[in-house]
Amino acid sequence: MKIADVEVICLRVPKENDICEWGEDAVIVRVITDTGLVGLGESDSSPPVVKAIIEAANSNLYCYGLKQLLIGENPLEIQRLWDKMYWSSNYMGRRGAGIHAISAIDIALWDIASQYYQTPIHILLGGKYRDKIRAYGTFIPEDSPEKNRKIASKLKKQGFTSLKFGGGILGDDPHMDYQIIEAVRDELGSDYELQIDLATKWLTYGHAVNMFKRLDKFNLNWIEEPILADDLKGYSKLLGVSGAKLAGGESLTTTYEFNDFLKYAQPDIVQPDITRCGGFSEIRKINDLATMRGTKLVPHGFSTGILLSATVQFLAACQHGDLIEYSQSNSPLFTKLVKNILPFENGYVKVPDTVGLNIDLDEEIIEKYKI
Ligand code: MG
Repeated sequence: MKIADVEVICLRVPKENDICEWGEDAVIVRVITDTGLVGLGESDSSPPVVKAIIEAANSNLYCYGLKQLLIGENPLEIQRLWDKMYWSSNYMGRRGAGIHAISAIDIALWDIASQYYQTPIHILLGGKYRDKIRAYGTFIPEDSPEKNRKIASKLKKQGFTSLKFGGGILGDDPHMDYQIIEAVRDELGSDYELQIDLATKWLTYGHAVNMFKRLDKFNLNWIEEPILADDLKGYSKLLGVSGAKLAGGESLTTTYEFNDFLKYAQPDIVQPDITRCGGFSEIRKINDLATMRGTKLVPHGFSTGILLSATVQFLAACQHGDLIEYSQSNSPLFTKLVKNILPFENGYVKVPDTVGLNIDLDEEIIEKYKI
């Protein structure tokens, strides 16, 4: 079996110059073999940038487009191909978007391997620790405390036992941050599992530490990305400031970055995104690093049903992988693109025993939003 082609599809819901929120664009990769087996992957990154990294013609020894490196290769040699892509793109890759593109391909290669061996991905990864994974719902907050109170109430009634909100306006204004969190906490009750995500908008350690202290009374489960993950010292100083756990790492790629983050930032929870950090092959190693340091891994995941399926397969095969993020995006790229998207049911997502990612893409949605 050989790789015959790599196809990159960019999708975008808003028009090109309109604002594009989280979940409103996507890049899908299809790795096509000469046997007819096709693997599917995605990266939650900038679609045109990922496309360019895959499709670029080679420039020099360390500036190869990934597709050119893969054609004619055996798709089952996943780690060797990962290393080949990393090495041959290391001038323009190595971190960031270069690894995002490798992540999408790596996920597609695991999808192919699972179909080839007729064995679920979680078995290939080492075995299934659980049949279902508790899911927490993530929503992007509206611009008033009362609107967010209503969203939280609705999600709790839907069966979520854990919620997170962040992005949007959260982090823009300390007074509004406080009021929104106060309203949502009041609505959910004092013991309900609630976490917030600042998407790095508190910017500095000084502001973050002040907010940690002010929000301590709301019994938050975790506070995510208060500042950029590059500020390792800032993270380490925030540790233990409040009762809330410190979480972060969704923007990081490769074991190199996660090793430093775990060692020097010392978060309570680390959050690699399987579609950005390096795919199945790399997130397994990051999980080992986290386990060695006694750090909980809860993957980031807020894109399409492809990311969701990949994350479910990975967590099923993790000894401590008992919590998954479940997007509450209304984007058709989350709700419709994958026709058989893994559903949220009574607080959990079931782990399917099917072969591969088992994704049924809606070709009409692809045609409608393709750019
Ligand atoms: Mg986040």
